[in-house]
Amino acid sequence: MDLFSLTLHEIRDMMRNGEISSKEVLDSVYGRIEAVEDKIEAYLTLTKDYAYEAAESIDKRRLKGEKLGDLAGIPMAVKDNISTKGIKTTCASKMLENYIPPFDAHVFEKLKEAGAILVGKTNLDEFAMGCSTETSAFKITKNPWDLERVPGGSSGGSAAAVAADEAYFAIGSDTGGSMRQPASLCGVIGFKPTYGAISRYGLVAFASSFDQIGTFAKDVEDCAIILNYLYGYDEKDTTSLPIEFGDFKEALNKDIKGMKIGLPKEYYDKGIDGEVKEMILDGVKVLERLGAHVEEISLPYAKYAVPVYYIISSSEASSNLARFDGVRYGYRAKEYKDLEELYVNSRSQGFGSEVKFRIMLGTYSLSSKCYDTHYNRALKVRRLIKQELEEAFVKYDILITPTYPTIASKIGEKSEDLVAMYMSDICTVTANIAGIPAMSIPCGFSKGLPVGMQIMSKAMGEADIIKAAHAFEKNTNYYKNKPTL
Ligand code: GLN
Repeated sequence: MDLFSLTLHEIRDMMRNGEISSKEVLDSVYGRIEAVEDKIEAYLTLTKDYAYEAAESIDKRRLKGEKLGDLAGIPMAVKDNISTKGIKTTCASKMLENYIPPFDAHVFEKLKEAGAILVGKTNLDEFAMGCSTETSAFKITKNPWDLERVPGGSSGGSAAAVAADEAYFAIGSDTGGSMRQPASLCGVIGFKPTYGAISRYGLVAFASSFDQIGTFAKDVEDCAIILNYLYGYDEKDTTSLPIEFGDFKEALNKDIKGMKIGLPKEYYDKGIDGEVKEMILDGVKVLERLGAHVEEISLPYAKYAVPVYYIISSSEASSNLARFDGVRYGYRAKEYKDLEELYVNSRSQGFGSEVKFRIMLGTYSLSSKCYDTHYNRALKVRRLIKQELEEAFVKYDILITPTYPTIASKIGEKSEDLVAMYMSDICTVTANIAGIPAMSIPCGFSKGLPVGMQIMSKAMGEADIIKAAHAFEKNTNYYKNKPTL
């Protein structure tokens, strides 16, 4: 049996029963990485020495009879925009190519305390801006199901690592869909929490009113286990919610009879591939057979979600990224005549073209000429989209949509057409605009490639998502399919 191919909870049980050690689990995962990483290129940095030291310490504690938690000795991956003390955190940008953070992100600290073991930092679109992981300054991660295709983005490295069994779970960030979208294209679970539920302390900021940290998992039970460790108030993040979410494992194995599901028709419209749509509707039928009530609904403001998202997120990015000037942070150009040229050259050479485009778009939207017509108007429409969703959740427990309009595209296919690329965020950005939780769960295959179904709930309704997702998974088992590598 290949240990690397098991789920987190299966490997946890084996370690608890004394059948295997944490070191053996790590050997298996690094063996897998050695075998497939050349093809996938999910990682930017591997942390082998660090990982073996951590595994040894877990094994010692276990031998002494210490009772260890669910994550003790579990190999994980972390997206390279999440700070790891003493370990490079590049944001896949030349700007931070040599940046070694002097502190840990809150989530990484919590995961370490729980005994999870970092195997490496994963690739992403530069500063998490993108939908395909093609804007990374360092490498293009491949989709494990078809090496000529993108894994999705921006957390493409994390999603591909889990799909290719190069880690049992992976942490990523989601500003407009960057967890759910690659999860959908790689056939794993991707979860984005309620805004403020997971601390972002130590996440390199892209668009602060949207950014959230979330997780990729092999199955729903694993997802519930990981979320238990990520959630919780953190005084170092001023947007952190002082709320107790309870044990997510309690939402597993629940009856979904009577659950009310809304299908917003705008998300099943033209632009969504026919076969993808069919898979989602088949998935909804599974839930209906289990006793859920399903109705079509309408969210007329949904069509404005993509422009609203791109205007506000780029505005926030232009401000957040101002700190990378070659003086306070980041790459410094070798040649410059004066201070101004130092800034200009450092930023021109340090940032890639997608990041520069967002900074310009944001600066333009915030300029005195455009502030009211662009930025302020987008804020107003954001409120309408939020209200519309809040009203829908008075009647429905969850909403189900596709996660992504198509299957994974070929590398290079969409990167020339920015509008097509941005429009493909149509299904995911709404949850970030409204600050609500959402999950993508595998729901079938089209042309041999994975398709994900998105489940959203009202803010703080994550238990409903887990409940529905687990019921779906138990009756379908799509997660058991693995790519041949
Ligand atoms: N694709 C979206 C963007 O490029 C979302 C990215 C993200 O969630 N980090 O902005």
